[in-house]
Amino acid sequence: MANKEIIELTSKHVANTYGRFPIAIVKGEGCYVWDGDGKRYLDFTSGLAVCNLGHCHPAVVAAIKAQAEKLIHISNLYHIETQSELASILTGHSFADKVFLCNSGAEANEAAIKLARKYFSMKGDGRFQVISMEKSFHGRTFGALAATGQKKFQLGFEPLLEKFTYVPFDDIAALKAAISPKTAAIMVEPIQGEGGVNVPSREYLKEVKKVCEEFGALLIFDEVQVGMGRTGTLFAYENFDVKPDIMTLAKGLAGGVAIGAMLATDEVAAAFTPGAHASTFGGNPLSTAAGIAAVNTVLNEGVLENCRSVGGYLVKKLNGLKTEFKFIREIRGMGLIIGMELDEGVKGGDIVKDCLAKGLLINCVGDKTLRFIPALIVKEKEVDEMIGILKASLDWYKESKSS
Ligand SMILES: *Cc1c(COP(=O)(O)O)cnc(C)c1O
Repeated sequence: MANKEIIELTSKHVANTYGRFPIAIVKGEGCYVWDGDGKRYLDFTSGLAVCNLGHCHPAVVAAIKAQAEKLIHISNLYHIETQSELASILTGHSFADKVFLCNSGAEANEAAIKLARKYFSMKGDGRFQVISMEKSFHGRTFGALAATGQKKFQLGFEPLLEKFTYVPFDDIAALKAAISPKTAAIMVEPIQGEGGVNVPSREYLKEVKKVCEEFGALLIFDEVQVGMGRTGTLFAYENFDVKPDIMTLAKGLAGGVAIGAMLATDEVAAAFTPGAHASTFGGNPLSTAAGIAAVNTVLNEGVLENCRSVGGYLVKKLNGLKTEFKFIREIRGMGLIIGMELDEGVKGGDIVKDCLAKGLLINCVGDKTLRFIPALIVKEKEVDEMIGILKASLDWYKESKSS
């Protein structure tokens, strides 16, 4: 179908929950996608940090094809071969001992919140409070929404799940003032994604861990966006030399297939006993087969090295633009999650729209930060192409404001 036809059908029949750009993407390969009219775009959004291996990576496609012909779904009433294998790979490369599989980031966070409550309930220590961060994003279901420290996502859905408290990110004094013996968990993204690509100072997460230990609270890292190689290590926490008790994953975990995972240490995971939590589709053969292929590719095909080196190159190039355009305030990030913060009043959304017209997909988070999250297999020459288009858009924006 052509763009126009798809857009007409969408506006007629699809719930209006997204402010969508006026194109439909119908095909993808590596770092490029094509719309319904056959126009090609360079993709620096990667399905929002989902397609970490690029679109339709051959290893993921092959795994999906093979699994689809063998077994697509079977209930968790039975053991599932690919689920056990994916869980063993994830625990083998992380702090965790056990994995609960589900289908999205929000679901993974629901599982994390439920596990934290169950853990203290089984200890006979009725703790409910969860402290999360201002500008955080944890998903749209009621538990995850309550954890999300941004009013704009919560408006109209109150009353929310109780006992959530928010403190400013990267502010250890504020956390110390908020925590108490009633705190069950502190939930934090090691780097905030939707909140504007906010990287904490070096020691912050270590300090958070110390505070947790002092009060006997659990530490939950939401790595739904920054996990799976995005920061140049398999998990973002590895960069900060601190281990959580619980971690959630989703977006990049299965090369584009819907999946979520909640990982925990044996001690904490023991609170989930048969019947405590479940998901019909969680850990199904198809998504976990894709997950195995995706994780093995990230680990064995030089993807992390590429992420670090091309990430460094991208930052260098973006800093070059910063010296040229005075309305660029800061370039920040890690690996291949990079933000370009613009001055107050600069319309990031207009620049995103102009880039789209010029054949580049990027997006804007936290109102004024352009976010660059290309596939982790992106090459320097694709970064050069992106910088060329972005520079043309910034030139256009500068001129449109001066005239
Ligand atoms: C995207 C995201 C979520 C929500 O994931 P869904 O799959 O959309 O439910 C949760 N946490 C973080 C950090 C995210 O970036």
